[in-house]
Amino acid sequence: MTMPIAAMIAPVTPLQQNCTIVWCTKTMKAAIIDPGGEVDRLVKALAEKGLTLEKIWITHGHMDHAGGAAELKVRTGAPIEGPHEDDQFWIDRIQQSGEMYGIPEARVFVPDRWLKDGDKVTLGETEFEVFHCPGHTPGHVVFFHRETKFAQVGDVLFQGSIGRTDFPLGNHQDLIDSITQKLWPLGGDVRFVPGHGGMSSFAAERANNPFVGDRVIAAMKAQGAAYQTPQNHSPG
Ligand SMILES: [Zn+2]
Ligand SMILES: [Zn+2]
Repeated sequence: MTMPIAAMIAPVTPLQQNCTIVWCTKTMKAAIIDPGGEVDRLVKALAEKGLTLEKIWITHGHMDHAGGAAELKVRTGAPIEGPHEDDQFWIDRIQQSGEMYGIPEARVFVPDRWLKDGDKVTLGETEFEVFHCPGHTPGHVVFFHRETKFAQVGDVLFQGSIGRTDFPLGNHQDLIDSITQKLWPLGGDVRFVPGHGGMSSFAAERANNPFVGDRVIAAMKAQGAAYQTPQNHSPG
């Protein structure tokens, strides 16, 4: 049996952000999730695989995830879906952050569709579910394909870490709640692409993650305000 979707990870920008090309294997229609930059390379990759871009999906408004969205839309005509509208203030800063990181082509945009918790987004003959997972940014969303148990979680969760919460409107407790109340219930066998670094599964993170592993969450509850969160050195 052929899988309904296939995916290819293409890290982009100096921050090595995991841009992902996913496609419906039946129709060869593709979505690019988090085109932070290097749009030329992404357009070439689509052509090489014989894919037609149908959607541009954005997990959150940070430049390394969303900086290339405007240019990709101009070149392909594909609509931009996501993130949640609480990330507008981050999208407004894309140009400024792009200049700071030496990515002058990073451009601001207004999504064709803001996403909210419980939304569905279609791709060819298949669909992904949307979960609003605030904490790293207030408008962060996660894309989940239930049939194949595949998720793109952006900077919510990493292999062995979680997203930074020291940015404006970041919130550590919101992030912990997003992960334990929205992601964990989807099942331990869910494999995910994080915004940076290697893939992992929810079960592996529940077993070992020093920020949100089951033992850590239990200790956090037992110790309350006395609990010391370890230093977070994650890239996003
Ligand atoms: Zn990032
Ligand atoms: Zn981020």
